[in-house]
Amino acid sequence: MKVCTTIPEARAACRDARARGKRLGLVPTMGALHEGHLSLVRAAKAQCDAVAVSIFVNPTQFGPKEDLSTYPRQLDRDCRLLEGEGVDILFAPPVEEMYPPGGVTWVLVEGLSEKLDGRSRPGHFRGVTTIVAKLFHIIEPATAFFGQKDAAQVAVIRRMVQDLNFAVEIVACPIVREADGLAMSSRNAYLNREERGRALVLQWSLQEARQQFDAGERAAAKLISAAKEVFAGEPQVVLDYFEIVDPDTLDPVERISQKTLVAVAAYVGMTRLIDNLVLNP
Ligand code: AMP
Repeated sequence: MKVCTTIPEARAACRDARARGKRLGLVPTMGALHEGHLSLVRAAKAQCDAVAVSIFVNPTQFGPKEDLSTYPRQLDRDCRLLEGEGVDILFAPPVEEMYPPGGVTWVLVEGLSEKLDGRSRPGHFRGVTTIVAKLFHIIEPATAFFGQKDAAQVAVIRRMVQDLNFAVEIVACPIVREADGLAMSSRNAYLNREERGRALVLQWSLQEARQQFDAGERAAAKLISAAKEVFAGEPQVVLDYFEIVDPDTLDPVERISQKTLVAVAAYVGMTRLIDNLVLNP
């Protein structure tokens, strides 16, 4: 695995792979890798001839009161995991490489960036789209792999790719879960034992919505109130949002008549967790 920390090195490694006729896949991450990330790497390995992974804890997608300074960083371990998966190129730049002084240009997907997580985390998606656009320019992947776990992020990035004519195919991969159903996340490491137990309420609320849907309920408001009742049983977990939306526009739907995203975010102690599922009538 070629490890690159500068943009010229990464560009050269990727150009070299492409020159050898390889279809290049990119998996952007913030590191502290778990099976969720590795599932994206495996999908990239399966669909591309060469795989680049980026590890960059992107400061511009964190709010001033968020966990940028405490976000888990474990580059050596991540490197070993990626070596084990047969990754070709790792791009792990320092912050100054991606954001040298004087930068004033942003990529903003208007509207979509203020929905779901964007509403609770002002500026978050502007940071995400800006760094992902930069990565796309540096790596020039044929395909980029993202997790459905961050469903709003997938919608925002798809829109950016369409609006800015990026020549990259976006693939969304299924959510990887712990044995008890908790969606894997680097932030799960923040949870103490009690919080780890309480965190299951996100998954239970989604399951409640799915059960009502399977029983024939199509009114979004009914599913939302049933899910909120599940949260009422776990008062120490603070619900941020439970929404039923169109997966592309992220606008709320009233009745579920086509593919629909059910998304939840909640604070378990200080830790903000998200999860979602897709309903297909
Ligand atoms: P992050 O390091 O949190 O920025 O995540 C990097 C990528 O991994 C994003 O596309 C995430 O959606 C994806 N990802 C994170 N957790 C999971 C998971 N449990 N299952 C599938 N993909 C995930």
